[in-house]
Amino acid sequence: MAFFEMVKTALKTVVRRPVTILYPAEAAKKTPLTRGHVTIDESRCISCGTCQRKCPAQAIVISKEAKTWQIDRLRCVVCNSCVDTCPVKCLVMDTQYSSPVTARSVEIVTITYVKPPKPEKKDEPKQ
Ligand code: SF4
Ligand code: SF4
Repeated sequence: MAFFEMVKTALKTVVRRPVTILYPAEAAKKTPLTRGHVTIDESRCISCGTCQRKCPAQAIVISKEAKTWQIDRLRCVVCNSCVDTCPVKCLVMDTQYSSPVTARSVEIVTITYVKPPKPEKKDEPKQ
């Protein structure tokens, strides 16, 4: 009986369309929830370091002194933790997959955020 079950399954598989695609020759199916790669809006990053602390793969390194945000795409497991915890929401999970790489390369972004000046205190009129 097991033999016939196996033959039935094999025959079904032969006539059915493949459930996989020939990625990357064929474009992968994407939805709004697809996790492609993390992107940053460097003009809004306040160098707080939360993303670095929350990253389980140690893929992100922040340097307050050099004003840089860097990511190692080979380390990133695309968990979305950095995107979820960034307090100013300057990280976004893009639905496009990043290009395949064969060697470790770290992407470095220069943070261009400028802290707005504190509003001047108005002198209270003396009574
Ligand atoms: S998506 Fe996850 S693994 Fe990738 S950089 Fe963000 S926190 Fe780290
Ligand atoms: S990307 Fe967001 S969480 Fe990371 S250092 Fe900048 S502001 Fe903080």
